[in-house]
Amino acid sequence: MSNYVINGYTPKGLFERFEDICAIPHGSGNERKIADYVAKFASDLGHYVCRDLSNNVFVRRKASPGYENRPPVLLQGHLDMVCEKTPESNHDFTRDGLKLIVRDGYVTADGTTLGADDGIAVAIMLQLLSDPELSTPELECLFTADEEVGMNGAKNFDYTKIHARRMINIDAGAEHVVVSCAGGNRSGIYTSFRRIPYYGDVLDLTVGGLAGGHSGIDIDKGRGNAILISAEIIKKLRETQPAFIIKMDGGSKENAIPRDCTTTLAVNDARAAVVAVSVIAAEVKKKLSADDAGFYVKANPGEFSGKTPSPQLTDSLLTFLSSIKNGVISMCDDIDLVKTSQNCAVINIDGDRMRIRISARSSEVSDLMEMKRELTATAKKCGFRVRHSSGYPGWAYEKTSPLRDTFVNLYEQMFGKKLPVIGVHAGLECGLIKSFVPDMDIVATGCATYDEHTPDERLDLASCERMYAFLSKLLGQL
Ligand SMILES: [Zn+2]
Repeated sequence: MSNYVINGYTPKGLFERFEDICAIPHGSGNERKIADYVAKFASDLGHYVCRDLSNNVFVRRKASPGYENRPPVLLQGHLDMVCEKTPESNHDFTRDGLKLIVRDGYVTADGTTLGADDGIAVAIMLQLLSDPELSTPELECLFTADEEVGMNGAKNFDYTKIHARRMINIDAGAEHVVVSCAGGNRSGIYTSFRRIPYYGDVLDLTVGGLAGGHSGIDIDKGRGNAILISAEIIKKLRETQPAFIIKMDGGSKENAIPRDCTTTLAVNDARAAVVAVSVIAAEVKKKLSADDAGFYVKANPGEFSGKTPSPQLTDSLLTFLSSIKNGVISMCDDIDLVKTSQNCAVINIDGDRMRIRISARSSEVSDLMEMKRELTATAKKCGFRVRHSSGYPGWAYEKTSPLRDTFVNLYEQMFGKKLPVIGVHAGLECGLIKSFVPDMDIVATGCATYDEHTPDERLDLASCERMYAFLSKLLGQL
């Protein structure tokens, strides 16, 4: 590639590698070419390269002269990117390179995600592997595949290859140091039923306009959950007259707080139900946070002739939803971070089946196990079946971390300001790697990126310059 568009930033090679990566399609599941590129780049430099069947690439650069006796260091980032585009874009992620736009110190891609998450980590590692000036202990670089769709690369890598017991993950999206992340577990709750004939009044109930958000990052904002609010309204309505669910549809994404939910209810007197719901909705609104200013409830009366689940299903469902934990469950002792949370994400009652999706997150493996047990017990009590998906482990805060200390001190020395030390209540590959190599001392960091996983994703170029200068100096001190 000859026509680079990012100019005037150092080191030049870092930004050229980033542009080379952007020119190669590399959405999750489509990492063959990017893995080829990385493996060839490193082997042309004479480094040890290993590439596995999952398209993970592992590279080892020998220690610089004078650094032979120091313990090795591992850098890690992921090869794949999230593919999102604007409705107008005709970009083909399987075939086309990204079209980059540089403006006001940021780079973005035209109408698509940029994949700075985590392409900038790949570029940093390649530049460090090729930097002739670098002083470093033995440097290992792990480029993982399929991170964005379940961390499959990191799950399948053979960790016996790794010499290092100190690791810097470069997927934390900002100039900070991340010292803990959450593991996760997803559960499905099911039941099937026979429908019985029904003729009578119905109420179409819509709960919407809630802020929603990411079920990990935004779980501590106290935002309303459309499914649970619907359940609360139905429960209160039943104090005024009999009502039971014919159909229900709430939430869409497993990792999002549900923003809307629609329910069709069989009721005795639809007009009276409309009045009752409006009173209940006003009460609910009072309890919501300012984030949920857009909250609304619509109740439309109607008539129905057809088949419905028995009222027993509604009894069991309302018992279940009011018994499960939701939102923040506990906080970490050492840092200001949510330790354990749960989100009821999706519900669907249609045909002869009910399906509910619930996700739990925690930095403590034992908490995740406990959540699983509780959910199973509650579901069984209500007569529902449960299926848990294979989860991924979290990474709990470690009281002592020599790597973290060196990292934080050097950053302050170089840039005259304290680096924020934070935990994230979301998944990073660190948790998984820690489960394979328990004595690994880990920090996670990154360059400033914004609106990741959306077509507005942008990367702060000066932040990349700082992070590169910092990491290359840090390696010399490790
Ligand atoms: Zn990432």
